[in-house]
Amino acid sequence: MIELSDIRKAYNQGRENEIWALNGIDLRVDAGQVTVLFGPSGSGKTTLLTVLGCLSRPTSGRVRLNGRDISGLPERFLTGIRRSTFGFIFQQFNLIKGLTALENIMLPAYPLGGDWRALRHRAEALLDSLRLGHRRSSRVEWLSGGEQQRVAIARALINDPEVIIADEPTANLDTALSGEFLDILESLLGHGRTILLTSHDPLVVEASIVRRIVTLRDGRIVEER
Ligand code: ADP
Ligand code: MG
Repeated sequence: MIELSDIRKAYNQGRENEIWALNGIDLRVDAGQVTVLFGPSGSGKTTLLTVLGCLSRPTSGRVRLNGRDISGLPERFLTGIRRSTFGFIFQQFNLIKGLTALENIMLPAYPLGGDWRALRHRAEALLDSLRLGHRRSSRVEWLSGGEQQRVAIARALINDPEVIIADEPTANLDTALSGEFLDILESLLGHGRTILLTSHDPLVVEASIVRRIVTLRDGRIVEER
């Protein structure tokens, strides 16, 4: 469903501090499975994840999404594709303080328009399914780490994305919560989602739901299994 060919990505190109984070990546991500990007810090995992999720553009190379070459599309088209195709779970959750759990979950849906009551209903159902219904009106800063993460997961799911993307999702979670996170992923797979993670957590990499591990080093793929 996502195909990268010869992707290169530079930061600060042409300047003294130029750095090539990706050095020729060829990768095909198939629908309906869990792919983990693995590798040491600085190997390019986050950069590759942002290219796969259309959050950033490669310096060169081609990105195909469901057979369509999106490399040259103008920003406004990419924004639309991003919103409708991907749900993002960031490492620090990026929840908005001062807003409730429910409000945070509804936010990514506002730009798409649609009926507010239906949206609210969907957000409540998501919270219920993550066993967080009783916390819907709590401000997110009052929630525990595990609860905040479930809010971030619900927010990633509100637009019913085909692909769920998470950067080091268990980095701030203890073993029990990490296990719970993996269970949630498993239930999402059952609903036909494609899941893309970065991680160097053995719990994640060795989890039974992980179909494919792509190891990066210095911006190159060094192993696939
Ligand atoms: P990982 O997620 O595996 O730790 P990253 O993709 O974050 O790797 O980083 C790959 C390389 O690109 C690193 O050398 C990092 O310092 C550099 N890098 C990442 N983001 C930026 C940025 N916004 N500006 C400049 N350099 C960056
Ligand atoms: Mg990273």
